[in-house]
Amino acid sequence: MKTVYVCQSCGHSTGRWVGKCIACDNWDTIVEEIAVKTGKRSISAPISMKALSDSEIIIPDRFLTGVEELDRVFGGGIVQGASILIGGEPGIGKSTLLLRIAANVVQLSSFECLYVSGEESLEQVSLRAKRLKINEPKIKLLSTVSLTDVVATIKENKSIKFLVIDSIQTMYDSRITSAPGTVTQVRTCAHELTILAKQYGISLLIVGHITKDGQIAGPKTLEHMVDTVLYFEGENSNQYRILRTIKNRFGPANEIGVFEMSEAGLVPVDNPSSLFLMAHDREVVGSAVFAGIEGSRPILMEVQALIAGTNMATPRRAVVGWDINRLAMIIAVLNARCKMFLHDKEVYLNIAGGLKIQEPSADLAVAASLISSVDSKKQLCLKMVITLLMILR
Ligand SMILES: [Zn+2]
Repeated sequence: MKTVYVCQSCGHSTGRWVGKCIACDNWDTIVEEIAVKTGKRSISAPISMKALSDSEIIIPDRFLTGVEELDRVFGGGIVQGASILIGGEPGIGKSTLLLRIAANVVQLSSFECLYVSGEESLEQVSLRAKRLKINEPKIKLLSTVSLTDVVATIKENKSIKFLVIDSIQTMYDSRITSAPGTVTQVRTCAHELTILAKQYGISLLIVGHITKDGQIAGPKTLEHMVDTVLYFEGENSNQYRILRTIKNRFGPANEIGVFEMSEAGLVPVDNPSSLFLMAHDREVVGSAVFAGIEGSRPILMEVQALIAGTNMATPRRAVVGWDINRLAMIIAVLNARCKMFLHDKEVYLNIAGGLKIQEPSADLAVAASLISSVDSKKQLCLKMVITLLMILR
């Protein structure tokens, strides 16, 4: 039997084992897998083509969840026949989210949902549903890891128009000898499922676990296969969760939905700004509020800086929720243009509420919070911010 060596991070395959993947530079990600045999291509008759100008535009039907925070992230509802990948770290609450979405969708439509759990038993899923007070006869449960079972069930039950796979890493195609969770298995199962979804007009939701470095475990390649990629973010230690669109063929990317994890499941947060601003009853040194755009709406976020003296040769710079290289750049700008020297100071920067900011326009808020924490005299602060504004423009 012929074997190949496949990188579990990027899917690159080589003929021999190597310690470091030449495609993605990751160490120790190469795993031996059985090569998939491809049969001879059979010659078929050509199919009729269509001129670009002749093709009619069909606006796809969408399933609504009835929750504004969710529908916005999906680009105005879940498109029928679309395949959606939901990534997130284990234990973040993906199953809770999906059960809630499934319940809302079947309540608002006449179709049924098939929830395939490869990780938990039927009892465990039912128990969760009970805790979330979901008692929906139109959600059908299936506890299996076999792709063939899922395909057969879908073909048999035409009323199912909504399919949840929890998770793709547990799915197994018996035609392939590689273990579940390997790149070949994950890719093949996802491919089969997306084709099935298109063919039967089923909306497909695939759960994918993310490895610590933020990749959907192993196959980054999955992201190209599906129509929409969502990331479910948040810290286990705080109760807030953010659902973020990374890619969407049927709507804008970079939209976010903000939720609070409570006893009764996920509760949408109507005013996310309130979440990302700490409660201050007076002005606080080192804090700056920034009005940023997340997706299509503005959100207020708070940047907090702390500067402390140190005797270390290389003082510490630590950042939560922002880019540490950008912080180094802002410190350099402050040094060169505003004569604010931080070479003997430790700098800590935090975005309140566990949010991650990517916008370049947050630079000014970061600079303002740094200046504020060095010198709380507002006169000086204001002058420096105006200087900075002119530089950054
Ligand atoms: Zn690789």
